[in-house]
Amino acid sequence: MSACVVSIGDELLRGVSTDTNSAWLASRLLEMGYRTGTFNCLPDDKATIARKLKQLANEFSIIIVSGGLGPTMDDVTRDAAAEAFYAPLELRPEVVDDIRCQFVSRGLDMPPRNRRQAEVPKGAEVMRNSIGTACGFYFPRGDKAVFFMPGVPREMKKMFDESVAPLLLEWKEGQKERQHVVTKKLAVYGIGESALEERLGDLSSTKTNPAIGFSCSPGLNTIHIIAEGDQAEELAAEMERKVRAIVGRNIVGKSGETPAEAVISRAFNKQWNIAIIDLATGGYLVSELTKSMEGEQERVLAGAEVYSPSEMNLEWGDELRKRAQKVLNERAADVALVVFHNAEEEKAPIALATDKRTRMSEVPFLRGRRDLRQRITNYALAELWAFIEA
Ligand code: ATP
Ligand code: MG
Repeated sequence: MSACVVSIGDELLRGVSTDTNSAWLASRLLEMGYRTGTFNCLPDDKATIARKLKQLANEFSIIIVSGGLGPTMDDVTRDAAAEAFYAPLELRPEVVDDIRCQFVSRGLDMPPRNRRQAEVPKGAEVMRNSIGTACGFYFPRGDKAVFFMPGVPREMKKMFDESVAPLLLEWKEGQKERQHVVTKKLAVYGIGESALEERLGDLSSTKTNPAIGFSCSPGLNTIHIIAEGDQAEELAAEMERKVRAIVGRNIVGKSGETPAEAVISRAFNKQWNIAIIDLATGGYLVSELTKSMEGEQERVLAGAEVYSPSEMNLEWGDELRKRAQKVLNERAADVALVVFHNAEEEKAPIALATDKRTRMSEVPFLRGRRDLRQRITNYALAELWAFIEA
């Protein structure tokens, strides 16, 4: 079944806000076996929205709309929905109560204007919003539907997971030919995108089942495997084995893991802790690690020191190696990582040490790059992961 995603808001078209909802929705839809046919970004204009909705309803069985459900006069999505589907707005008392509760719980009276948010097109089912005032709604059309959700990403995601996803999954189950989709994401470091594609040779095709695609972020390429059909699980697993056999140790962690997540889970399982000296990323590396840690996992970090490279007049090689061994002892850590960046020479050496061995390496592809902090961080974390794994 084909789906499409619609984002509404003048601020998106003015470039003030970035449309992150569409990407999030497309990836959640794919996980559930729905391919997204198009993205549409529309202004807060009733006639434009209504016209587009009618057109999309002829082409797609599932339409997912976010934005423009606020209480102000510039939020016109509900009016456009009413016009497109010939369903006049009607006040839903249960929604008024919901909205009033939201205000009361914050010790406020409900402003009269917010009553507008309780107006829902006739025949539409309401989707409640437990963390905001904009309720969502949808028009059921058998196993087809048009969903409307608030634009605020946190509210949209919660509503999608609580109200939309269960319906979509139920409809999927009911289909005769269940179109099952399995995706895998493998993070690769130290190999450029074109070299990677070359190595994978005939495997890298977007038109086969399973299909292989690529995306890249600084210092990291991601291989996406997408398998469809009844055998999707097996097809994806088989393809992952083939890819791993070719790309080998340059793949970081398990499918779907970021380098930071891979480092943390591996170190945590081995009961290792890590000391870090960052002379390259101004603390970005440590922040990437800590933001992926939960609860007990915080034990993994034995200590972190962040310096500006100019504070430490370090030579490469030996000094960096000694520095890693020193911090290893000082922090009583199982592994120490020191990252340095020499801007003049456009080089970033890395030292990794345990009490048994030390490994020196260098971040590749730095020359002329601008996204250095992310690039160095991703590479250093991937190297750290490989070092712990070995
Ligand atoms: P409310 O006005 O009650 O918050 P709403 O449904 O009217 O709900 P919008 O006014 O459209 O929501 O958007 C509120 C904010 O949410 C926007 O200012 C923007 O920052 C964010 N937002 C809206 N749509 C998107 C989107 N597609 N991607 C990312 N952020 C979005
Ligand atoms: Mg708005």
